Amino acid sequence: MKKILVTGGLGYIGSHTVVELQNEGYEVVIIDNLSNTTIDVLDKITSITGIKPAFEEIDLKNKEAVKHFFKYYDVDGVIHFAASKAVGESVHEPLKYYENNITTLTYVLQEMVDNSVSNFIFSSSCTVYGQADELPITESAPTKPAESPYGATKKMGEIIIEDTSKATDLKAIALRYFNPIGAHETAKIGELPIGVPQNLIPYVVQTAAGIRECLSIFGDDYDTVDGTAVRDYIHVVDLAKAHIAALNRLLNGENKANCEYFNIGTGTGSSVLEVVNTFEKATGKKVNYKIVDRREGDITAAYANTDLANNELGWKAKLNLETALASAWKWQENQ
Ligand code: UDP
Repeated sequence: MKKILVTGGLGYIGSHTVVELQNEGYEVVIIDNLSNTTIDVLDKITSITGIKPAFEEIDLKNKEAVKHFFKYYDVDGVIHFAASKAVGESVHEPLKYYENNITTLTYVLQEMVDNSVSNFIFSSSCTVYGQADELPITESAPTKPAESPYGATKKMGEIIIEDTSKATDLKAIALRYFNPIGAHETAKIGELPIGVPQNLIPYVVQTAAGIRECLSIFGDDYDTVDGTAVRDYIHVVDLAKAHIAALNRLLNGENKANCEYFNIGTGTGSSVLEVVNTFEKATGKKVNYKIVDRREGDITAAYANTDLANNELGWKAKLNLETALASAWKWQENQ
């Protein structure tokens, strides 16, 4: 049985990926510092799969603890989610982001190199493309200057990994996520709402639940189908499965370069208004909204060309927007 380290494995995408890894017969060990989640996610994972994953409460900024972990655990691969992800916060606290997302990455990679662990999956983001000149976005689209320190950590992360893969035996795949949404069908794990949501779907869901009065839609004068901005929303369970496909590619030696990049989206763009309407249709709940000014740093439209992931990883998103939004609502109702 292959043993996989999942950093940030109690977080939103991490927990869903742990479930899929266990479903595929992998042994999982989780590192998490519980900075943006709670320990009961471990029990929720266990109740979904019937297997309790090993868990180490480690802060990856603690270099000695990371070193100690790799001495003690003999892992076959690493899926690295652990990172801070609030775009707005990153603008005000850039050093926190560079330390949490970059320093820690170098520690993990160093231990992998020193302990001959060569298979690495990295959480990257479509944010590296900025507003792409052509839609849908292919992996060969040029990367653009980052709009925030958070975005910069994803770009820098890719560069650090690529450079390491050139100089060592590291084999890496960076998955460039589009917009992950939704929750596991059991509604036992999902995106934990902490404070006022910054992302669209948690805000929509909380408005429907009466926790928020009114959704502000940021701009209706974009050059899109109805003037609201367009994104590619991907169900978190589909996204989790993309990690398994990427990991299998590395473990089976099917990779074509030491560092590869794949877009992970559905290939379909949806406007903010389409999201609201689809949510109402899927759940029967009304969402109060008003149109306000554009949000600084937002782009007009981003959606993926997923041909490379489809053909090379043998992976394709299967769950549609309606299913994803219904699962997000079920998760909210379960809170
Ligand atoms: N959005 C919105 N109101 C909100 C949150 C988001 O209109 O309260 C819009 C945002 O302008 C963007 C889309 O919803 O066009 C997705 O935003 P999100 O923050 O979820 O993801 P992003 O694509 O910005 O990473």
